[in-house]
Amino acid sequence: MNDAGAGGRDRRRRKDKDAAVAVWKEKEVVDGKAVDAGVIILRTSGCSHFHSGGCSMCGYNIESDRSISEADIVKQFGDAMTRLGEVGMVKVYTSGSFLDEREMPAGASSHIVKECADRGARLLIESRPEYITGDSMSRMLAVHDDIELAIGLESANDKVLKHSINKGFTVADYDRAATLMKENGVDLRTYILLKPPFLTEKEAVEDAVATAEHAAPFSYSMSVNAVNVQKGTLVERLWKDWSYRPPWLWSVLEVAGRCAGLGPKLLCDPTGGGTQRGAHNCGECDQVILEGLKAFTSSQQTSRLAKPACSCGDMYSTLLELEGKIVGGTPDLNRFFRR
Ligand SMILES: [Zn+2]
Repeated sequence: MNDAGAGGRDRRRRKDKDAAVAVWKEKEVVDGKAVDAGVIILRTSGCSHFHSGGCSMCGYNIESDRSISEADIVKQFGDAMTRLGEVGMVKVYTSGSFLDEREMPAGASSHIVKECADRGARLLIESRPEYITGDSMSRMLAVHDDIELAIGLESANDKVLKHSINKGFTVADYDRAATLMKENGVDLRTYILLKPPFLTEKEAVEDAVATAEHAAPFSYSMSVNAVNVQKGTLVERLWKDWSYRPPWLWSVLEVAGRCAGLGPKLLCDPTGGGTQRGAHNCGECDQVILEGLKAFTSSQQTSRLAKPACSCGDMYSTLLELEGKIVGGTPDLNRFFRR
């Protein structure tokens, strides 16, 4: 291999293919103990669903490249692990599904699973439900038995999945995959989306709580993901058009408080919290709420959730009351969103 004569741009491109998008360390609680977790965002050929339309809020495929090979991914992972050093858990995110062999070639996925098994590190991966099969489960479990697999259910309401998110699967698809995982003893992390577009703030809170209630019996952990406005998405277009506002932090607090007792570990640490593109309040009370959410996420104690006395709380309560009436929403949630 010799690219000494290539232009700078080509050299950078070639280098990018075998370099992970991002790598960092964070704390994670596993079986009640805080461990160092390594996070690796791999550059892949992209999510299969993105290639056929994609989800309204997802901009992760901005980093994907269809020419990425198995060897590129193995190199990305190897370099990332060297940088991370000793970790008790490894979270490997692709832009789509770890179990989709078109996105993650079989050689690369088995290499990653084996490497984590050899190091005794718990592995967290993500997949759409259609790739979660008896075959894919048993192939992984033959190599490593400490795996947490995340599914982005987002909403347990098929109308929200179809019209607000364009998710491309149904609640029944999630239920099938989640049941299979339970039978195989694989821990499920369910992602719950807070405030998909076209829902009022109140509808969004009720939808997230209903989703958590649906997912709890299947899940080892649940992550409430407040929408953050990502580049190149439908949500971004709506946001720029004054037709979408990310959720209030009051809503994140409400969902955290109501879902904390459901059983599974609950993660509520909004990406981009306190910014215009992320979940935010008035600007005055954002930081104290965000710190409370972080403390709750690591301790699981609802007493750590901070509810500051801030005047924007009154505005928020009024908004919940009035928004549906003003923007032509549906005050009768059960009528519109009946499953
Ligand atoms: Zn405030």
